[in-house]
Amino acid sequence: MERNTLGQRSTRQRDVIAEVIRTAAGPLTVQEILARAQADVHGLGVATVYRTLKLLQEGEQVRTVILPTGETRYEAAGLGHHHHFHCRVCDEVYDLDACPVRLPESRAIAPGFVVESHELTFYGTCRRCA
Ligand SMILES: [Zn+2]
Ligand SMILES: [Zn+2]
Repeated sequence: MERNTLGQRSTRQRDVIAEVIRTAAGPLTVQEILARAQADVHGLGVATVYRTLKLLQEGEQVRTVILPTGETRYEAAGLGHHHHFHCRVCDEVYDLDACPVRLPESRAIAPGFVVESHELTFYGTCRRCA
């Protein structure tokens, strides 16, 4: 009985955390995930968030994003090719759908250097802070 109650609680925590990440405007920090999930899960602690993020990564529902600053954030897996916009004012990170990179058809960026992938992070002010 006890085990069942605990199991239901952890399933609910996992669902809430997955939903917080899935509905975010961009990748979130652990503290942001914790703050948003606490609205639905009373008494949720940071250790549980870390443990749940590990499970969600193993289940390929969530992936880590490591920004050029070295900060680790979490986003839904399977979003497809996209980039991030980091607002310098509010520190929020947003997903951008548009990719501004235009490579030549050969994908060679210099003679003998063929591009297979790229990562880009934009910095500036978001629409709320502009
Ligand atoms: Zn902003
Ligand atoms: Zn791109």
